[in-house]
Amino acid sequence: MTLSLKPEVAARLKQLFTHPNEHQNAPPGDRLKRLYEYYKSCRRCPLGTQGRSQVVFGEGCPTAPAIFIGEAPGREEDTLGRPFVGRSGRLLTGMMDGLGLTRDKIYIANTARCRPPENRQPLPQESSTCISLLLLREISAIKPRIICTLGATATNAFLDYSKSLSSIRGQIIQTEYFAIMPTYHPAYLLRNPPAKDTVIADFVRLIAFLDAK
Ligand code: SF4
Repeated sequence: MTLSLKPEVAARLKQLFTHPNEHQNAPPGDRLKRLYEYYKSCRRCPLGTQGRSQVVFGEGCPTAPAIFIGEAPGREEDTLGRPFVGRSGRLLTGMMDGLGLTRDKIYIANTARCRPPENRQPLPQESSTCISLLLLREISAIKPRIICTLGATATNAFLDYSKSLSSIRGQIIQTEYFAIMPTYHPAYLLRNPPAKDTVIADFVRLIAFLDAK
């Protein structure tokens, strides 16, 4: 099965990577700070007016070779204003620390930056709006070599695929701008602890990809 970027994502990335603006040559950290400042009160999709406390931006190294992408902030993330600090985030951080993928060396973010009511999944339109405004701009500033999509929501946001996540997880899919590797979301691992070994094997594959170049 050949996997490729969704046409709308590929088109937006092409625009961001090939049409320079006045901030294009600024250091990545400065570009990220400018982005956070500009969107800190964002209400461009319904999640901006459905009870969120704050916009939860991505976090980590502004020149990270790998970006990890989840779904949306939960209660603790919404309160603290940081991604992946709840129960599943702590599980993920512990697994990554054990492999040397500490949070100061990578970048971690969600597809939607505002907590959905009742912790529901973000709707496709909410995710696609937020990705276009924030995540793809962060990617164009950071220029990672690989993106790891955690779970079906993040994977669906990037790739057109018709099979289950389990049938494509662990594959490294090269695109024009970066590679993508889907794997399970840590919330799934809380419900299915034996799948932790599978995700650790996927992370080892991701590290080997980074080490190989
Ligand atoms: S989820 Fe994203 S697009 Fe929607 S209001 Fe929040 S920051 Fe804006």
